[in-house]
Amino acid sequence: MDLLTIGAFAKASGLSPKALRLYDELGLLRPVRVDPYTGYRYYAVAQLDRARLVAWLRRLGMPLAEIRAVAALSGADAAREVRAYWARVEAETAVRRDLAAFLVTELTKSTEAPREGPTMLELRCAAHSDRGHVRPANQDTVYAGRRLLAVADGFGPAGAPASGAAVEALRFLDEEDGPRPGNVLNLLADAVRGAGDAVRDVTEEDGETGTTLTALLWTGSGLALAHIGDSRAYLLRGGGLFRITHDHSVVQSLLDEGRLTPAEAESHPQRSILLKALGADPDPDLRLHEARPGDRYLLCSDGLTGAVPDDRIRELLAAAPDPETAVRSLVDAANTAGGPDNVSCVVGDVVSPVG
Ligand code: MN
Repeated sequence: MDLLTIGAFAKASGLSPKALRLYDELGLLRPVRVDPYTGYRYYAVAQLDRARLVAWLRRLGMPLAEIRAVAALSGADAAREVRAYWARVEAETAVRRDLAAFLVTELTKSTEAPREGPTMLELRCAAHSDRGHVRPANQDTVYAGRRLLAVADGFGPAGAPASGAAVEALRFLDEEDGPRPGNVLNLLADAVRGAGDAVRDVTEEDGETGTTLTALLWTGSGLALAHIGDSRAYLLRGGGLFRITHDHSVVQSLLDEGRLTPAEAESHPQRSILLKALGADPDPDLRLHEARPGDRYLLCSDGLTGAVPDDRIRELLAAAPDPETAVRSLVDAANTAGGPDNVSCVVGDVVSPVG
């Protein structure tokens, strides 16, 4: 075997000897021989490709443990892992982007003079929840108040008390005058933390019980969203339906990473397994939406989205004259499709007050 000195190998690979020494220390690329007396490192020509690949993966920001795994794979398998890694980075970046936008708005609002004039918008909403045709009990909880909309989908032996406790813990948000400008983010984060504590109290940390929580809080000019689990929030605006939450589920992450097609996801045996839920993981996704008159928001549990396709949800939501009709027709649609799960919907309309 032809061996190259570290200097020759560095020259051939375009990497510095310093980088090569680092890769050795990190276990990413071991020299084939180290002289026991001088400590000099020797590399094989066949290691050039791996050295270059390690350098590219480091430039990508991939963690060392993953680089080690990817560098040991064949081309096609390595390609799949790089694609999956990047999908995770983009999903995490999207969550951070939403949080940054929220912070920018909060910091701006906290220094602004209060807005004047009768331009305030209002929220009109309705909620409906049903056991469905298959499950023995309804473990979902819904809430629609003046300022707060919430859906929680409980699971495990104490699923119903868990979803109930989570929503109950948020209800104080509905009773106050509304959040102080510039304080929505803290208020919402504290409220969700309180909801997590309340869930742990009723489940006594049995390890199997938890709940999703997707909630919107009306701020007077917008809606602040807190989301954890696989219940969803959608916005119907200008006739288009936009999903504004990302499921914290195993299947969603497999979809993101390109390991599963949408068709495969629909019947995947693990489609109800969550990556995050309230009670175990306290960090919700948080984002803020500026409200426009005519906006219609939908919160729903997976009993709707698992049974009714998005384009049908859009049709029903667009056709309903008011939130009450909308929640009834959506729940009916899930039950017509077999009602395989508890189904819950909350619809909130952004309206200009009349008169
Ligand atoms: Mn469910």
